[in-house]
Amino acid sequence: MAKKSSKNHKDATRESKVTSTQPGKGWVQSPNETLRVSTDFDLANFDHASTPGWDEGKVAAEEFLESRGNVLSELQERFFAAGKFGDQRSVLLVVQGLDTAGKGGIARHVLGLVDPQGISLASFGVPTKEEASHHFLWRIRRALPKPGKIGLFDRSHYEDVLVQRVEKIVDEPTWRKRYGEINRFEKKLTENGVTIIKVALMVSHEEQGRRLAERIVRPDKKWKYNPNDIDTRLKWDEYQQAYQDVFIETSTQWAPWHIIPADHKWYARLAVTELLTQALIDFDLEWPKPRWVEDVQYRRLQETMTESETLEVNELRDVVVKEAAQAIESFDDEVATIDSSPTTSLTELTESPKPKETHDPQEVQDGEAPTGRTTGQDASKDEKKAKKKDPKKDKKSKKSKKDGKKKKKDK
Ligand code: AMP
Ligand code: MG
Repeated sequence: MAKKSSKNHKDATRESKVTSTQPGKGWVQSPNETLRVSTDFDLANFDHASTPGWDEGKVAAEEFLESRGNVLSELQERFFAAGKFGDQRSVLLVVQGLDTAGKGGIARHVLGLVDPQGISLASFGVPTKEEASHHFLWRIRRALPKPGKIGLFDRSHYEDVLVQRVEKIVDEPTWRKRYGEINRFEKKLTENGVTIIKVALMVSHEEQGRRLAERIVRPDKKWKYNPNDIDTRLKWDEYQQAYQDVFIETSTQWAPWHIIPADHKWYARLAVTELLTQALIDFDLEWPKPRWVEDVQYRRLQETMTESETLEVNELRDVVVKEAAQAIESFDDEVATIDSSPTTSLTELTESPKPKETHDPQEVQDGEAPTGRTTGQDASKDEKKAKKKDPKKDKKSKKSKKDGKKKKKDK
């Protein structure tokens, strides 16, 4: 999946720190804000070929994606490292979309930018007999990412309010009740340290037709085609309605939906990469600080070395430490510029709808307390956002940039 070995990606990251200028303007508005569903969202009037927040077209997007890949890769490595040192957080990227929407491409192209050992991937198809004998969230819980990992769900529990509704696998009271169950389930997850990023890749009917045509005729794509895809396509309007309802009913402050126009694959990948990068930036990740004492361990190592080997590592020690510190500092500076890129504040956004409260015995049995809606999580997110826009922080980052330049000059 990954295009680079972890060693190479590390080297590339280091290089990117030296030439951190990004091509063009980059995002003019953060996809976090432009793509987030609002209460008046109407899928019927959605432009599937639009590229919200990105004005520069495909070639610039591809260049930009490469530089973002380096940032994402280091953030993910820090995250993975933090997980090894007790950080309990994880990321869950939920990818939904109809056939041909590009869900597989997200796994390949976005998560392909980072080290595969930090990824856990789960695809959800028609439930097996065992899965079907449990509550619909049973198989979802089993597939959740462990601390320090980025989990990707290719389809998810949302199929239980999409395909199960349209294909009438369950009756209306059953799927309706699931919206509330999902909202409470996701709330519990976020309270337990899972950051949920939900993306829906929405293709137009015409574009899906083109992509299916390719799958039918191209020898290298036939494997992706399933004759049932046409049956699903015949129910286009019903699926659109089901998606529309999902967006309105299950977009919460703690797990909002991002609706990604997906007729341009390059845009969908760019947007999802940005969402993931920003989520990791929000974690304020630093390299973990182990408990052992550097000098003690260094001495122990030297006792295992010849005199000339000891001389060699000693000579390099200062250089290595200095270079690493500079690399970390310029990486942090680069991240600070991404951090401050959003131009709209959260308060300008329409508030997400409240999940409905339903108290269902099966849910409780399934291990969830019916929690309803609280604002604690929201407040902390808003606070973080405010902190990010804190001019003091800006000053600090500018100062550290200046210091960095000075240091380089001194060198
Ligand atoms: P694919 O993603 O193309 O491999 O197809 C997986 C298929 O499994 C799709 O047709 C989904 O609609 C179907 N599927 C996934 N989850 C469920 C579910 N909970 N109930 C019924 N069908 C499902
Ligand atoms: Mg399929």
